[in-house]
Amino acid sequence: MRIDIITVLPEMLEGFINTSILGRAQRKGLVEIHVHNLRDYTTDKHRRVDDYPFGGFAGMVMQCQPIDACISALKAEREYDEVIFTTPDGERFSQPMANELSLKENLILLCGHYKGIDFRIREHLITKEVSIGDYVLTGGEIAAAAMADAIVRLVPGVLSDEQSALSDSFQDNLLAAPVYTRPADYKGWRVPDVLLSGHEARIKEWELQQSMERTRRLRPDLLQQG
Ligand code: SAM
Repeated sequence: MRIDIITVLPEMLEGFINTSILGRAQRKGLVEIHVHNLRDYTTDKHRRVDDYPFGGFAGMVMQCQPIDACISALKAEREYDEVIFTTPDGERFSQPMANELSLKENLILLCGHYKGIDFRIREHLITKEVSIGDYVLTGGEIAAAAMADAIVRLVPGVLSDEQSALSDSFQDNLLAAPVYTRPADYKGWRVPDVLLSGHEARIKEWELQQSMERTRRLRPDLLQQG
């Protein structure tokens, strides 16, 4: 899988994509993540990528030209499954969407800034618009980082224990069961006896029952999505 991220703040992403799971996935050769500085694609001699909005509205808008040039340069090299724009008015990012995107070969993630991007780019070049939640961030970098992380950890071979991703929250519309580690008794705070029993079937049953109970109590909406 290959992910190309387009941004005006590449330094915000460089550390993130080369650390932890994303860094390991790349070193293992399972994933390539490339960060592109949008300013490298502008024809403006001052390297500006934004301008005033038509209509006299407040704020600045990212221009068509550098975004079009960057996306066109990438598309000239390979075919992309999706050209994704991170935006608060997009479809809500979710585990099912991460699962679906983890099966793709090539993705572009475009990070907006200022008031956003010239709408014509959204009409003509973007194939999917994604929000990471109902709040407004300053730029799309945190959204792109969150999406890349959630997607890449699902690529086969990236996690050392693949079963682990399958038992995470939101797979099967359930929240995860509680987890514990040694010691079994810390200051009198005891781990549930069943987890120490070594009885695999009973442990599985406990895990499912805990997941159901926590989902019913904390996120009943997930059970309706069944
Ligand atoms: N004027 C835009 C609006 O009201 O929808 C918000 C622009 S925001 C200040 C700048 C950029 O941050 C957006 O273009 C987008 O790329 C990114 N962004 C902000 N909030 C986001 C969210 N919840 N999910 C995804 N991207 C977001």
